[in-house]
Amino acid sequence: MDKVYNFCAGPAMIPADVMAQAQQELINWQGLGTSVMEISHRSKEFLAVAAQSEQDLRDLLNIPANYHVLFCHGGARGQFAAVPLNLLGEATTADYMDGGFWAHSAVEEASKYCQPNNIDITCVKEGKKAILPAAEWPLSDEAAFVHFCPNETIDGIEIRDLPITDKPIVADMSSTILSRQIDVSKYGVIYAGAQKNIGPAGLTIVIVRDDLLGKAKSILPSILDYTVLVDKESMFNTPPTFAWYLAGEVFKWLKSVGGVAAMEQRNLAKAKLLYDFIDHSNFYINDVHADNRSIMNVPFQLKNPNLDEAFLAQADIAGLKALKGHRVAGGMRASIYNAMPLDGVQALVDFMQMFEKNNA
Ligand code: PMP
Repeated sequence: MDKVYNFCAGPAMIPADVMAQAQQELINWQGLGTSVMEISHRSKEFLAVAAQSEQDLRDLLNIPANYHVLFCHGGARGQFAAVPLNLLGEATTADYMDGGFWAHSAVEEASKYCQPNNIDITCVKEGKKAILPAAEWPLSDEAAFVHFCPNETIDGIEIRDLPITDKPIVADMSSTILSRQIDVSKYGVIYAGAQKNIGPAGLTIVIVRDDLLGKAKSILPSILDYTVLVDKESMFNTPPTFAWYLAGEVFKWLKSVGGVAAMEQRNLAKAKLLYDFIDHSNFYINDVHADNRSIMNVPFQLKNPNLDEAFLAQADIAGLKALKGHRVAGGMRASIYNAMPLDGVQALVDFMQMFEKNNA
């Protein structure tokens, strides 16, 4: 096997250059004779990592000065609880736009703390799965905020427009952050588990607008309290230092390859290659409408599911790893995050073509 391409949805591939760098400095970081994971989070060396990584993320996403960047624990699921507990204030409801598995999981968690409006935004367009235009989402007046998930990792659905509202928009960007350009100033809170486009699992990024602080419910665990985390500069407790350092290296890498604008072009090209191939084949199917196809997660099915196991086994031998679809979706899924090079997608398409030829 010459080369391995890892299509896992998360924890996912980390850029090869970043891994090589981390390997080189693993046991002797910055000449300290120790690894970055063995030093105090309050040491001047680690504080420099923390400051630089925040600045690099601010540069990459053009984050305005009135937003805080938090480096937290607890994953995106932790944020499913943190968001309502931080933002509801006196309100008892929020609008939860339900477009797929993860948005649905968020509303389930939120219903422990309020009576969310669970709004189904899915529809069928030209026989394919799609999402209603955001301008048509039926938002309520009483909602404290509007929550949605711009990229459904399992369903392979992406939402590229934003609702028209003066309420804070909260977005679970776990599987889309840094994949394309966004206007942060349009959001109240953006959060993302790191394990797809940022770095290793264990770190969660939260970007929160300043005026949304100070509304936390008293039952909110301090570790999820945005105001506490802002005051303590994400060091209320010991942060996941190694994941934070590695995320910082990923941010440096992203800047070195042209930032988010360049990455967006690269991601569009990768996704086009794969979707075009699927659309021109009679052997593979993707059931999402072109308007809402994810450029990060591409689920696809074989027309003959009896061939699924053979497909996965042969792909694995060919070095194309982790293509099995999520257990709730079945079929296949290729996650093609920032770290996946175009060559990896080309290798997948070549393999799919060969498999089709041998099994059609
Ligand atoms: N939201 C989305 C969009 C996800 O893809 C995932 C994980 N796959 C989650 C939330 C849950 O993330 P975590 O495991 O970090 O809690």
